[in-house]
Amino acid sequence: MTDLDNSPSLAALRPQSSQEDAGSALHELQTLLPGRVLLPEHEGWNLARLGWAVNVDQHPIAVVTVHGPEDVVVAVGCAARHGLSVSTQPVGHGATTALTGTVLLRTGALQDLTIDVERRVARVGAGVKWGTLLAALEPTGLMALAGSSPDPSVVGFTLGGGLSWFSRALGLTAHSVVAFEIVDAAGVRRRVSPSTDPDLFWAMCGGGGDFGVVLFVEIMLDHVGPIVGGRMLWPLEMARPVLRAFRQITADAPDELTLWAHLFRFPPMPELPELLRGRSFVSVDMTFLGSETEANRLLSRLRQLPAQVIDTVGVVPPSQLGGIAAEPVDPMPTQEYSELLRGLDDATLDRLVDAAGAGADIPVAVVQIRHLGGALTRATPEDGPNGAIAEEYSVFCLGVPVAPGLPEAIEAAFAEVRTALAGQRSGRTLFNFLGAESDLGSTFSATSRARLRRVKASTDPAGVFRSNRPV
Ligand SMILES: Cc1cc2nc3c(=O)[nH]c(=O)nc-3n(C[C@H](O)[C@H](O)[C@H](O)COP(=O)(O)OP(=O)(O)OC[C@H]3O[C@@H](n4cnc5c(N)ncnc54)[C@H](O)[C@@H]3O)c2cc1C
Repeated sequence: MTDLDNSPSLAALRPQSSQEDAGSALHELQTLLPGRVLLPEHEGWNLARLGWAVNVDQHPIAVVTVHGPEDVVVAVGCAARHGLSVSTQPVGHGATTALTGTVLLRTGALQDLTIDVERRVARVGAGVKWGTLLAALEPTGLMALAGSSPDPSVVGFTLGGGLSWFSRALGLTAHSVVAFEIVDAAGVRRRVSPSTDPDLFWAMCGGGGDFGVVLFVEIMLDHVGPIVGGRMLWPLEMARPVLRAFRQITADAPDELTLWAHLFRFPPMPELPELLRGRSFVSVDMTFLGSETEANRLLSRLRQLPAQVIDTVGVVPPSQLGGIAAEPVDPMPTQEYSELLRGLDDATLDRLVDAAGAGADIPVAVVQIRHLGGALTRATPEDGPNGAIAEEYSVFCLGVPVAPGLPEAIEAAFAEVRTALAGQRSGRTLFNFLGAESDLGSTFSATSRARLRRVKASTDPAGVFRSNRPV
């Protein structure tokens, strides 16, 4: 008996795969892809199996670091022949235990990136992160629908819908996809577009990575002109007036203006700037697709508030977009709660400040309220499984469970935030903001879920692919 036979992961193999099949499949994989396959008995396994959220206990049966598209074809073909499932994880921001028992493909090396300025289309390899794409776009005057962080892969982010800084003006990132190039369940490399495979294309525009391994995504780019962006920061004691001003501005903001409010508790870590270290703040982060003068006019209500600590609002080059929210990029343990909110009123904001403001002692590093609306409300069910997002705001909370007892304390704090927001919670959570233990029950309508399952059944009946959030 080998170490592998004892692995708990083998319990989660596809029904048609026996442990014997798995053993011979892994042996074949190692022969076909020498030096690229790591197994539980190999040195470095415990690091290799983890995602970015290092507290998520992922147990694949092998980790394959692909060097190019051909390796993906080989790995999927081998897994399909032997009744194994494949999952894909370039970065691990979406780490979940759903990939237990799979062959985990690391696609970070697929770094090809082409920008066709004339056609306004970027062809983005599966390993390319947002930071790389944004830097490449800088000289072109074109922009893609990027989110808050430079660290997620463009492909992983987009498969999950992609809530961008610019989604109020231009919709979800997934709705800017022109085509995907995939390796399908038969191990065949092919292009998926609205004209070749309308149902499969629809499912991949927000339904996640359950339908194939994406080698490239082609996304439409926009001429957005100069982007104004930045952060305004006050001590957490100012949370009440800042959140009220945030609500008032968002109530009639143009679609080109996006505001996200945060309640921050920064840990006393030496890596943080001295100004932030161990202190608590309320912030409003923003982008505006328009002139600086107009942005300043729209923000004047916030600027009138006293005690402001930082104001970085100004023209932001695309490559610096990730600097606005300045989120951590190094792997860490995380615990998350997110939900959409139908609206906000002063009473709800007051309860939120009571639960998470300066007077509360809670182990939650970030409470973020994003303003949605605009083009997100105008999407249709044909654009992708998300359809329209009617809710006006989302909430996202992050805790960092670094000590025993903290996971429970963080959960209790999330419960207090939920209670504070009770009257406005819609029960829906966007795909990319689901916590590690969540499933798609709270994300899509029953109609979308049923269509996703039909697409899965017709394109991958044997379950060759397993995403972090299986449909
Ligand atoms: C700091 C931070 C900020 C964020 N900000 C935003 C934001 O502004 N807007 C937003 O929408 N989301 C945001 N997210 C969430 C993020 O977009 C999701 O976690 C997304 O899944 C990350 O993709 P990834 O490829 O980086 O992660 P991974 O965990 O590596 O991949 C996530 C999943 O995508 C699928 N996948 C990835 N690559 C492929 C492929 N080549 N083929 C098939 N399937 C694939 C797999 O199912 C995989 O499990 C943020 C996350 C973090 C950590």
